[in-house]
Formats: sequence, structure tokens, C-alpha cells
Amino acid sequence: MTTHANTLTQDERSTTTPEARTLQNFVGGSWVPAKAASTLDVTNPANGEVLARVPLSTRADVDGAAAAAAAAWPDWRSRAVGERTEFIYSLREQFRRRLDEIAASITREGGKVTSDARAEVTRAIEVLEVACATPMTMQGRVLEGVARGINTETIRQSVGVCAAITPFNFPAMVPMWFLPFAIVCGNTFILKPSEQVPLTSELICHILQDIGLPPGVVNLVHGAHDAVNGILDSAEIRAVSFVGSVNTAKYIYRRASENGKRVQALGGAKNYMIVMPDAVLDKTVSNVLGSAFGNAGQRCMAGSVLVTVGSAHEKIMDRLKLEAEKVIAGDGRDPKSNLGPVISNTACDRIHDAIESGIKEGAEVLVDGRRPKNVPEGGNFVGPTILSNVKPGMRVAREEIFGPVLSVMHVDTLDEAIDLVNRDPRGNGTSIFTENGAAVSEYSRRVEVGMVGVNIGVAASPAYFPFSGWKDSFFGDLHVHGWDAVEFFTRKKTVTSRYFSAGETGRFFTEQGDKK
Ligand code: NAD
Repeated sequence: MTTHANTLTQDERSTTTPEARTLQNFVGGSWVPAKAASTLDVTNPANGEVLARVPLSTRADVDGAAAAAAAAWPDWRSRAVGERTEFIYSLREQFRRRLDEIAASITREGGKVTSDARAEVTRAIEVLEVACATPMTMQGRVLEGVARGINTETIRQSVGVCAAITPFNFPAMVPMWFLPFAIVCGNTFILKPSEQVPLTSELICHILQDIGLPPGVVNLVHGAHDAVNGILDSAEIRAVSFVGSVNTAKYIYRRASENGKRVQALGGAKNYMIVMPDAVLDKTVSNVLGSAFGNAGQRCMAGSVLVTVGSAHEKIMDRLKLEAEKVIAGDGRDPKSNLGPVISNTACDRIHDAIESGIKEGAEVLVDGRRPKNVPEGGNFVGPTILSNVKPGMRVAREEIFGPVLSVMHVDTLDEAIDLVNRDPRGNGTSIFTENGAAVSEYSRRVEVGMVGVNIGVAASPAYFPFSGWKDSFFGDLHVHGWDAVEFFTRKKTVTSRYFSAGETGRFFTEQGDKK
């Protein structure tokens, strides 16, 4: 196959790295080799180039990081909140200055097209900005006079060592959902990034070193299952944040809860987009396709099912096909590409399997992405794919495909559409396209999904609101960012107090020599 990516330099197209280095963990402010003997290759999904080797850290590695984080906690939590916030301002500044570098790292190890990668960094910056408000959001409450001369106040204090376990699809944004809030609230932190995309986390830790964050406040442990189990069982770690697939989220939630930790575990999704007969066609089509194929469908907010209601079906299908066929798959660094590769060969095979199972079960292929043209050799490419006539119960309707595959289902009424969505065990995001306010109000009220978009592709909440998935898309009580972040990363303490020195007379100072 030939590459159409003729805007890339020879160097950028290179698929060989003579000596990929083995990554190190970042513990107590130093880069240290993992005790682990085994490693995995980290590859560029656009061309198969081996970028590095990631160590599969053991429990002992996690214990070392937890000890460093625990040692750093007393000093860190005692610093003024303003001083801690200064570090978040600096981090935000570095993210702005180094936006291109961070985006390039995301594209290199994750395959995302540059515009998606830049959008991800911009989202991470937004979270950092919200975390800068912590001196206000972390404030407690006080009630004067719960009894004569007695006040009660609730203050928020840090929890201790917190850890986050993150997925491959947002290597910069998802760690930033947790890291800034955790540390600005006075906690210390361990990040276990996805073993498939460890390089962006490494870059973030270099940035934290550059801004002079004290040693041990943030630690990085690479790895997979052993490292995760080490986190879940560590006596030092008091709170665990997780983002990933449903089954892993359930497992993490259960094991961490059993071990007495507070947990927020975000799972996978199947997001439905409802198109009503009165929807504004052009805008609906572009939003639907953006949701379905953005980040090659590898988003927990990907719109993976399109539900056409009544005559919307005939109106939209031709247009959908026409526009989907204009989507160009290619290397994310090529400005002509608007669909990057999927993360791995395994993911590629799984997506092909899902498409083929859909066809066997009676779905029709409206747009076929199984053999995309003119994509770079060695990459994990699946082109935009649309399956129509999909029925509940088919594998493509049940599973989260996590690739650029849009399944189209048709119903006669809004009631049926709501029923379809509510029968799904997941409930992350959904969108409805219509100009009818009554339909919007009915849909938003009845649908059992935590984030609802109206005439907008499946809409992730801005960082100043909670990222509020429901059902199997979220296990826990306190969501990511918004007001929930400070709640998750602090413990409430309630202090009830009075002072006797005022006595009966209302005099406030009774020092020696103060003549009565
Ligand atoms: P994943 O569940 O395979 O991995 C996530 C993390 O868990 C990784 O760090 C991995 O090392 C670890 N892990 C995986 N299996 C494990 C196991 N059996 N035991 C212990 N640790 C394990 O998820 P992924 O493939 O990296 O990411 C894609 C998934 O994440 C999709 O399902 C997507 O919907 C979901 N996701 C959800 C959200 C959300 O906000 N709800 C956001 C992003 C991604």
C-alpha cells in the first residue's frame, strides 16, 4: 500500500526505532527503573513504529510510590492553599505554552488526528483552570450560635494518598481530571496511565519537575494489572479514581471499596443520538458524524447508535452516506486526515469482527470502512463505517465497539426511542436533534442517561460541571470535575467550639495584671 500522507517528511514517516528505551517510573521526585522484568512495546498506531518499552511494574513498585507519596503528604497539606494553587497556575501555563508538544505526543502514541489532540489539551487546560478556583470551592461552612456562645463549622481537609488509573483514549485530559484537584486539595498522588499510552504521562511528569513541584507530591507508576492490584490493595492509598471499560470499572469499584477506599470508577458507554423528523438536516448530519468518527470512535462519548424517528430516516440516510464517504482516514499528523488509526491491531481485529457479526445478523452496510484506501502501511486503520437496519440484540447494538462504526436503528415514535435508550445498561451521554421543545423536554426528563445534548453531538460536560455518567458508565457517588471534584478529594471535619474567656461579663482578655 502507498501512503497518501505526502505532506509528512521522510523522518515523520519512519517506522523504525533502532533502540526503543525502557520507560522509568517517577517516584519521590526521581526517575527510577521499575523492579519489573517484563515490558510491553509502545507503538505508534499509525505505522507500527516501536516508540518505547513500558515496564509492567509490580506491587513493590506501587508500594515504593505510595511510601514516597505518604512521606510527602504532611508537608504538602500544610502549605497554604494559595501556594498549592500557584503550582496549578504554572501547570496550566506550561500546558498552554507546550500545547503543540503535548498534542504531538498524544498523536504519536494514540493516533488521534492533530485537531482532536489539540482539542484534548485544550480540555485539559480547562480542567486546570477550574482547579485554580479551589481556594473558593474548598471552603467549608459555619453556623454561628448552634447553642448560646457555640459555633459549628465544617472544614474540608485532604484525604491522603490518592491514585488514578487511566485509559488509553485521552492520555492528557483524563489524568488532568484528577491530578490537579487531588494535589491542590492537599493530597499527594500516584498516576498509573494506560500501558498503551504512557509517554504523554511521562511528559506531564517532566513538566511537573520543570515547575518545581516538591518531590513525592505526584508519582508515576507504569504498568498494567499487577500495578493496578497493588494500588487497590495498598494500605497507604485512600482514594482511587478509575476510567476505563465497564468490566474493569466494576472490578476496581468492588475491590477498592472492599479495601475501605473511596472510589469513583467511570466505565464504558453506548451513546444514542435521536433524530426527530423536524431536525435541521445539514447541522444534524455533521454533528452525528463528528460524534461517531471523532477520535476514530474511541471516546466514551462517541455517538455509536443513531436512532431515526419516523420520517427522519428517509430524510437523513442518503445525506449521511454522502458525507461519511468524504471522511479521510490517515496518519493523524497529516492535515488531510480527519480519521486517525485505532489504538492497536487487536482493536482493529475486534472492530472488524463486530462489523462482520452485524452483517451476519442482518445489518446492511451503508458505508464500509473495512478496507480503507491510501492509508499508511503498518497502521491500524478502520475507515468510517455505517451499518443500517440494526436491531436490538445484535452484537453491534449490545457491545461498545469503540471504533469508527455507526449503527443506525429505526423506530416510529419518541417513546420507542426512549425505551431503546433506557434498556441499555450504560448511560453516559445521549443527544436529541429536533427544534421541538416539547420533544426535548420529554426526552431530557425521561432518559436514563447522565449527560444529554440537544442539537449537539454527544456532549461532554465542560470542566465546571460534573462529568455525570449513569448506570454502568459510572460506579461511585462523586463524579469527575465540577463541584464534585473537591468533594471527592477532601474529607469533611466538623468542629463545634466555644470559649470561656468572655465569661459572664463579656470581657475578652483576662491577662495577668488585668485588674478586675
Ligand atoms: P481498560 O478498561 O482496558 O483499561 C483502563 C485501565 O485499566 C488501564 O490503565 C489498564 O491498565 C487497566 N486495566 C485494564 N484491565 C484491567 C484488569 N483486568 N485489572 C486491572 N487493571 C486493568 O480501558 P481502555 O481500553 O484503556 O479504555 C477504553 C475504555 O474506557 C472504553 O470502554 C471507554 O468507554 C472507557 N472510557 C470511559 C470514560 C468515561 O468517562 N466513562 C472516559 C474514557 C474512556
